[in-house]
Amino acid sequence: MPSFQRAAKEALANTQQRRNLAHATATIRAKRAAVVGEVDRWEELRVAGADAKDEALHHLPHYLEQLETNLTARGATVHWARDADEANRIVLDIVRAKEAQEVVKVKSMATQEIELNERLEEAGIHAWETDLAELIVQLGHDRPSHILVPAIHRNRAEIREIFRREMGSVGRPAPEDLTDEPARLAEAARLHLREKFLRARVAVSGANFAIADTGTLVVVESEGNGRMCLTLPETLISVVGIEKVLPSFEDLGTMLQLLPRSSTGERMNPYTSMWTGVHDGDGPQEVHVVLLDNGRSHVLADELGRQALRCIRCSACLNVCPVYERAGGHAYGSVYPGPIGAILNPQLRGTGSEVDKSLPYASSLCGACFEACPVRIDIPTLLVHLRTQVVDEASGRSPEATSMRAAAWMFGDHRRLEAAQRAATLGGRLLGGRTLRSVPGLGAWTQARDVPTPPRETFRQWWARRRQDDPGGAPGPVRQQDGTSTTTPEEET
Ligand code: SF4
Repeated sequence: MPSFQRAAKEALANTQQRRNLAHATATIRAKRAAVVGEVDRWEELRVAGADAKDEALHHLPHYLEQLETNLTARGATVHWARDADEANRIVLDIVRAKEAQEVVKVKSMATQEIELNERLEEAGIHAWETDLAELIVQLGHDRPSHILVPAIHRNRAEIREIFRREMGSVGRPAPEDLTDEPARLAEAARLHLREKFLRARVAVSGANFAIADTGTLVVVESEGNGRMCLTLPETLISVVGIEKVLPSFEDLGTMLQLLPRSSTGERMNPYTSMWTGVHDGDGPQEVHVVLLDNGRSHVLADELGRQALRCIRCSACLNVCPVYERAGGHAYGSVYPGPIGAILNPQLRGTGSEVDKSLPYASSLCGACFEACPVRIDIPTLLVHLRTQVVDEASGRSPEATSMRAAAWMFGDHRRLEAAQRAATLGGRLLGGRTLRSVPGLGAWTQARDVPTPPRETFRQWWARRRQDDPGGAPGPVRQQDGTSTTTPEEET
């Protein structure tokens, strides 16, 4: 993947996508602000949400073992997966054992993260996405660009085209007279998916929450398609990131107030499905839960960085981010786009690749993401933390590291600092009032900024001259080099 900066530049040229994104994020932002404004103690709720997640993260082994015990006691089978390969292998083995040629899927970021669909396809097993937005992405041979609305970059006319062109090749075709009205598009998707729901014997899901003290998994959704997957097939396999664990059922109450308001701008989401193990004659008769690490232990080891694991994937930070709104989700090179992607991807995957190295810089550090986050993840501070890591890992080879070393050397001795300041003021005098538009070696930085013109006189020089003019140090107007006078700080106070 190219760096964020390169990918974002290409995305910025896509004016249709920018229009679609601006419209969609502005709409969700307004809805969210209205319903969050209705809650008197929103801040207390945020703190409670953050505390519940922190409690789980600080005692993760304990809560995971409790979750496993309770799941197993209620008839589920728990598997542990260190990485994507292991998780994919576990799922594939279960599907093969069932001799299934296809699976239906509930929208799941964890399975996208491990590229489960691709691995299943390689093994000749079709994985059908059943969330409407995911279906659009899958039929469009596209990639998701938003956590909640993966097809946010598409408008209705584009979706109609995708349905008409693609549905027939993988199942029931779209109606000939399909229009781009939302109700007609939803109906086409419903009819297309229905035959898949009724046929599939295996379903794959993720989980929004996994409750340790009851062994309950929870999926929160808007369409009801997820519920069809969770109840109709005989076998259900849930791939769940280990950070999804919540200590107690009570914590779910807090989360269900925070999540819908922050994500879709609703007081409550239309469908909340919960299942606890296996129940005779009701729902799937074989339930597997794959607990996925895939870099999460590494994130947990960083005392500051671990707060990223509090994320409940609401996408509020994406919808308020000025950088995401213009660049779109694909530029982040992962299923986790936007501000949360900018801190989560480099921690999960390390900062070895171009894209992961660039992500901590994919932000203006305006702080809007922190204000919006329902579990108070301090994303701006984490971005700075990760930038430090990227610079440190460059082992002094990057231009930034070289200039920082030079700055440290200069600030380490007052004579060196004074010499540098004298050189800068000389430069300032030579420039007169002119503005520098670019400096060799600072190409990328100066593309969007002017270089500040050095002052004609430093504070030290001004101070020395003031003493010269007035050896007694009496306060009073001081003559500037350009002939004007100014007051001293003492006079102003
Ligand atoms: S970081 Fe916060 S705002 Fe962003 S998706 Fe996660 S929980 Fe939501």
